Amino acid sequence: MVIRMRHTRSHTANRRAHHALTAPELAVCKNCGAHHRPHHMCLDCGYYKGRVVIDLAAKKKDREARILAKKEAIQGQVAEQAPASEPAK
Ligand SMILES: [Zn+2]
Repeated sequence: MVIRMRHTRSHTANRRAHHALTAPELAVCKNCGAHHRPHHMCLDCGYYKGRVVIDLAAKKKDREARILAKKEAIQGQVAEQAPASEPAK
């Protein structure tokens, strides 16, 4: 940068006076008491304005069942491979 273009420290500071971050405003969920974005569904319980928007409890249950099934499938594969690899030692 050419010195002709350089701003003074105070000029830079004046520009940066508007760069401060503000904390997000959060609302309290009426169903579970967790904080959530205002005018948005609560991400902890799936409620908005006192009614269920997304059944997060059922989704969590499905997800856990899926993960468990996957773990069992992997363990089954390991059990199948283990006897074949042991004689090679
Ligand atoms: Zn909630």
